[in-house]
Amino acid sequence: MNRAIKILPEHLANKIAAGEVIQRPASAVKELIENSLDANANSIQIIIQNGGVDLIKVVDNGIGMSSEDAKVAFHRHATSKIETYEDLESIRTLGFRGEALASIAAVSQVEMRTRDKKSELGTKVRINGDDKIEITQDASPIGTTISMRNLFFNTPARRHFLKSISTEYRHVYEVIQRCAISKPDVEFQFYSDEELILHYYSSNIENRIKDIFGKSLTSTLLPLEGVDEPVSITGFIGQPQFARRGKVEQFIFLNNRFIVSKNLNHAVYQGYEHLIEKGAFPFFILFLTIDPKKVDVNVHPSKMEVKFDDESSIYKMFLTVVRSTLKKYNLIPQIKLESRGNENPVETFRLSSQPVSMRNYSKETEELTPGKPSEKAIQHFQHLYIQRDDNVDRTGQTVHSITDTKYQQLRNKYIIVRAEDGLLIIDQHAAHERIIFEKVKSRFINNEKNSQQLLFPVTVQLTPADSLLVKEMFSDFELLGFSLKYFGNNTVIIDGVPPEIKPGMEGTIFEDVLSLYKDDKQDVPMKPSERLAKSFACKAAIKAGDPLNQTEMKSLIDQLSYAEIPNVCPHGRPVSMKLTIEELDKRFGRTS
Ligand code: ADP
Ligand code: MG
Repeated sequence: MNRAIKILPEHLANKIAAGEVIQRPASAVKELIENSLDANANSIQIIIQNGGVDLIKVVDNGIGMSSEDAKVAFHRHATSKIETYEDLESIRTLGFRGEALASIAAVSQVEMRTRDKKSELGTKVRINGDDKIEITQDASPIGTTISMRNLFFNTPARRHFLKSISTEYRHVYEVIQRCAISKPDVEFQFYSDEELILHYYSSNIENRIKDIFGKSLTSTLLPLEGVDEPVSITGFIGQPQFARRGKVEQFIFLNNRFIVSKNLNHAVYQGYEHLIEKGAFPFFILFLTIDPKKVDVNVHPSKMEVKFDDESSIYKMFLTVVRSTLKKYNLIPQIKLESRGNENPVETFRLSSQPVSMRNYSKETEELTPGKPSEKAIQHFQHLYIQRDDNVDRTGQTVHSITDTKYQQLRNKYIIVRAEDGLLIIDQHAAHERIIFEKVKSRFINNEKNSQQLLFPVTVQLTPADSLLVKEMFSDFELLGFSLKYFGNNTVIIDGVPPEIKPGMEGTIFEDVLSLYKDDKQDVPMKPSERLAKSFACKAAIKAGDPLNQTEMKSLIDQLSYAEIPNVCPHGRPVSMKLTIEELDKRFGRTS
């Protein structure tokens, strides 16, 4: 290595730099659209051929360039967007590095036509992958058209690394979608191999999202807004029950720039905590607006990574806004049950007394006296923590206070409730599962054992493997409320159970929980105690097919309204659905 140091000629330096800015057709499309947006275009056409490898052409009706600007635009570090270091500290445009056009010209054959409103003639610039620039004057409309042909024609190694045409096409398509979301007021047209692929008319964000993702998906989104001056977050998030495994569309824009931030994505997921199954992801489109001084977008040439001055407070804000939006749209707390007179549900149904502290005391001795409810029947309600008042006799049958039927059970599976603004349909199993899950979870969190002693302990014979598992999970089972004793030979004696278990079902539920726990293989590791809580909730909950009376239904719904996350079951299935009057009107074709 005895060669002298030389400064690289600009076109060679550009070629090297291009490696970071233009990695594939989609990155060129992104840079060109960003330039058009920075030039205030309100209509942009993107035309590609062969996934963008043969041709990328972007036509805009923005402010255009004077002939002087057009001549220097392709130089590296040529930019009209910043002048001083202070400008770099508060970037308001999408571009600022002055690298894109230089990079594009270094790796393809470029032609640009441009005119600003002060110039009578337009300027045409041609560059053929070297440092020679050909400039002519020509009549042309105000705005800019840039076409680049044969991407990487002079860097075969890079060209070789391009993926299939369909993959490159897909990336281009995604870039256009992101830009279209970030600027709904701008019209976008996308042609690929002479076919019109996308045409988004200038509109507002709601309509743009509808145009991109379709009406049905859009109708499931929840609008979100959170302001903590001077920071604001707006956008749309998917309802938890529509969370999907695998690839889900998620977008975060910072001052209208699409950014990639694992950390902020994580904040959003945290907002959905326990609302969706681990391994499934929600849809979201979020716009963060922040003083450009408080964020550095100059982290990487692609400008998609950013650094915040105070990342942790932005993180918190994302989490809080997502969480409060989900809370706000929870169907249950929101629902106002139709009330008649001055009926006050809380007073009418005071919280039930103590759960029975001794279980199955009547098991052997129970005598059925005609007309008198059996102890079993009473205990049957206990597992729902029935909230009763004195007007309700011990079977849960109403004596006089509720004379009508506000709650209807459909196929012993769904509960239909009249609400002020429509009908609420609740999946009884999912609802009860959610209630039990939260109760049990709080037991785990607060380390509060809640067990009811059995007068007649139940013996369960386990396989050696299950017996080992129970030993491993012993303390979790204890917290759940199972009081277990080993009897040798893989036999376990249950002498206490969680209060949610229906009398007589102690052994069965224990075995069911164990086997569900084993089968419930998660893609993503979950805390064993949480998995246990989930399995237990599923097994102890009332089933589809269990008949419920008015009091039981009411109790279930009341408890659900106290649940932290009432609208999805622990597996992520919806608990309830609302059919609003407006929706009914729509379906019946009524206007009022
Ligand atoms: P940057 O966008 O970082 O400034 P670019 O290399 O992308 O750098 O563009 C260089 C300059 O060329 C821009 O600063 C702008 O002045 C001008 N320019 C590029 N594209 C357009 C366009 N579509 N309309 C008007 N001016 C443009
Ligand atoms: Mg640019």
